[in-house]
Amino acid sequence: MLSSARISLRCTIQRLHARASSTVVKDTQIPDFSVENEPLLDYLPGSPERAELEAAIAKHESQVVDVPIMIGDKEYRTDLVQHQVMPHKHSHKLAKFYYANSELVQKAIDTAMAARVSWEKVPLREKFDMWLKAADLMAGKYRQDLNATTMLGQSKTIIQAEIDAAAELIDFLRFNALYAKEGTKWQPISPAPNVTVNKLRLRGMEGFIAAVSPFNFTAIGGNLAYTPAMMGNVVLWKPSDTAILSNYTVYKIMREAGVPGGAVSFVPADGPVFGDTITKSPNLAALNFTGSVPTFQRLWSQVGQNLSKYKSFPRLVGECGGKNYHLVHPTADVTSVVNGTIRSAFEYCGQKCSACSRAYIPESLWPEIKEKILAVHKELKVGDVREFDSFMSAVIDAKAFQRISSYIEHAKSSPNLSIITGGKCDDSYGYFIEPTIVQTKDPLDRIMTEEIFGPVLSVYVYPDNQVDDMVKLANTSTPYALTGAIFGQDQSWLEKAADELKDSAGNFYINDKSTGSVVAQQPFGGARMSGTNDKAGGLQYALKWTSPQAIKQTMVPLTDVKYPYME
Ligand code: NAD
Repeated sequence: MLSSARISLRCTIQRLHARASSTVVKDTQIPDFSVENEPLLDYLPGSPERAELEAAIAKHESQVVDVPIMIGDKEYRTDLVQHQVMPHKHSHKLAKFYYANSELVQKAIDTAMAARVSWEKVPLREKFDMWLKAADLMAGKYRQDLNATTMLGQSKTIIQAEIDAAAELIDFLRFNALYAKEGTKWQPISPAPNVTVNKLRLRGMEGFIAAVSPFNFTAIGGNLAYTPAMMGNVVLWKPSDTAILSNYTVYKIMREAGVPGGAVSFVPADGPVFGDTITKSPNLAALNFTGSVPTFQRLWSQVGQNLSKYKSFPRLVGECGGKNYHLVHPTADVTSVVNGTIRSAFEYCGQKCSACSRAYIPESLWPEIKEKILAVHKELKVGDVREFDSFMSAVIDAKAFQRISSYIEHAKSSPNLSIITGGKCDDSYGYFIEPTIVQTKDPLDRIMTEEIFGPVLSVYVYPDNQVDDMVKLANTSTPYALTGAIFGQDQSWLEKAADELKDSAGNFYINDKSTGSVVAQQPFGGARMSGTNDKAGGLQYALKWTSPQAIKQTMVPLTDVKYPYME
């Protein structure tokens, strides 16, 4: 009986063999491609890129661009009129924009939900074509529009804009497409493919995704909104008020590359109005956030409060603040420490989430380091970004100016703190703050533990024999764990410290500054209060924005409920 059942099963398999090659989920036909990091241009005097950049700056500073709210294919304007100004000359308006009210945010949700089915059906390979085309447009004819709008609107110097709005954004588009393509190659095993075929289908999420981006990187806005969109999701992108013009430029380039209006809506809004509306929607599928800890905590709590309303559990991704350290061992190379620390602490006015904000320096090296830092500091020009010899420019807005100056005031009034250089703040023309170095007698003073997000570096000079205590302080004295760097030539100490500091930073550097991560080279993100550490610029990031479906298709009839041993 048993053997005849086996024979009949074998016959059925043979009969159905021809059908087995045709399954519901087809193998994806994605042509292979490879990508590389976008090279940085030099902008030397007389170079063509410098001339193009100067022309783009002249164009963008001579107009006030009207930036509509874009929902689907339609433009909207409200009476909640706002302006983006140049932080280094705050009387100069660059863009006029409008806050969406909660009804318009809801309209954007409804539009996204209506567009979801058709956008998800667009094959991945077509989406990759759009993303690669957008990257080429950004690397080519729109490069200097991206750079100029980022320089003027966010007060980045040429090199900082080129790293961000050109290279990093282009890298995000290209590498996320590459990694997603590689991700689709993995399929579950089908041990007997004539009988059963197993497939994994990467679906977009059932709902909409809210992408809420910060002011400080044009590339982050592009990544937060468009990586989920590439994976088949519909997105509401809420840009930062102080990065509107560059972010709108990104939006328009993506439309030109073929991304339909319904896939990503561009929804400038007052933060809480946007946050309150999206977290109340039953269709919220995910939040892709980068910004400060309090904002992320507020959004997370609102999601918690609304949990019973949702159709799916919202996926919460957030990259937040840092209090990043440079920890210097007595064997460190002084020149690397000096140059790396100046760059990390003061480039882009310390407004990088990875900026060095606290340094632990041994007594034996301090006189030499201090002398060299002061000498370099004298050469740092703080000025308008249109003056190409400026090392740094203004901080982003009045609120940031207030916050950063309050730490400088604290340094001036506290007996534990002394300002060794800098300390001047002047917001009469632009929001200018000198690069400031504060020496503290107390390694736990709030200037050493709180995120300042400005050009203020605090230094604690320690007795050389207490270097192990400094490792503990670097690790545990703040709630953050974003970036950190150790400097030294003693290999065994480096290894021991790296091990002990494992949880202190999502991005960890040895004999290098704490800033400057490159897409696909140092995937970025931190844990503890620094975020959910989802590593933008890494392999996993694009796949995070899918809701995979496992499909098992059986090619033979099920002929019995009994198992053979029951015979
Ligand atoms: P922010 O928190 O003030 O704003 C971020 C975004 O959230 C903005 O678009 C803002 O309008 C919006 N927002 C504010 N309140 C909201 C609310 N209630 N609901 C919804 N959205 C709301 O941060 P910021 O000043 O733009 O950026 C600076 C912060 O971002 C720093 O803390 C920095 O460390 C962090 N950051 C982190 C990373 C990282 O990868 N870890 C990268 C860049 C910046």
